[in-house]
Amino acid sequence: VLEARNLAKAFGSNTVLRDIDITIRRGQVVALIGPSGSGKTTVLRSLNGLEVPDAGTVTFGSGDASSGLAIDFGAKVGKKEIAALRDRSAMVFQHYNLFPHMTVLKNIIEGPVQVQKRPRAEAIAEAERLLERVGLADKRDAYPFELSGGQQQRVGIVRALALKPQLLLFDEPTSALDPELVGDVLGVIKELAEEGWTMVIVTHELAFAQHVADEVIFMDGGVVVERGPAAEVLRAPRQERTKLFVKRLQ
Ligand code: ATP
Repeated sequence: VLEARNLAKAFGSNTVLRDIDITIRRGQVVALIGPSGSGKTTVLRSLNGLEVPDAGTVTFGSGDASSGLAIDFGAKVGKKEIAALRDRSAMVFQHYNLFPHMTVLKNIIEGPVQVQKRPRAEAIAEAERLLERVGLADKRDAYPFELSGGQQQRVGIVRALALKPQLLLFDEPTSALDPELVGDVLGVIKELAEEGWTMVIVTHELAFAQHVADEVIFMDGGVVVERGPAAEVLRAPRQERTKLFVKRLQ
């Protein structure tokens, strides 16, 4: 589905990403782990154009050249290309980022209707179906402040699914939640993985990563230190830095 090559990004004199290579195949679940400040969020945001890398390429492919997308960040990148990149994936944020002044339903249909120009009735039907699925059908007309963090995050996930993206990006989706609410959200993500969604998950939940991810990428200091099958990287890491990190979190 996606190939990122040699991504680099600096904020002023602070180089946060160097030579990041990531390949994500259709249906694959990739967990991105690493210490705070290692660049995980910046990678995720770069994959969907919320952040524009200084160099490197991102290629989305479907085997069909006409629907493929290739962006070279080393060259001049236009708004159209960034919009096309953003269209391929949907992000679930750490702090949910729901629009506070909109009901749950409005939050979900905003993108499909306003950005993707899909018929409103169709978007509403789809939103209702997805809400039902995550056990929130009765919250359709509630406002975000009336929901628990876990409920808000499930709405955040539904909002991403409603865009029908090729790739789902999760940025520490449970780290803002009270411990007793984490399970529900992880349960929804696990179901999506089983359904075959392609996704990248930034997470500190190593047990969950091992359970759900096909591949784990460990980042430190803006570079990929180690990658491989989840069981290998998390249970038998090869690099010292990975060993230390995994040990500390277990
Ligand atoms: P965490 O687990 O704490 O979220 P992370 O691995 O996701 O960390 P990033 O959020 O990608 O790390 O941040 C990497 C570095 O980039 C940090 O040093 C951070 O201060 C810096 N950074 C991120 N976004 C910006 C920005 N918009 N402007 C300036 N610096 C930034």
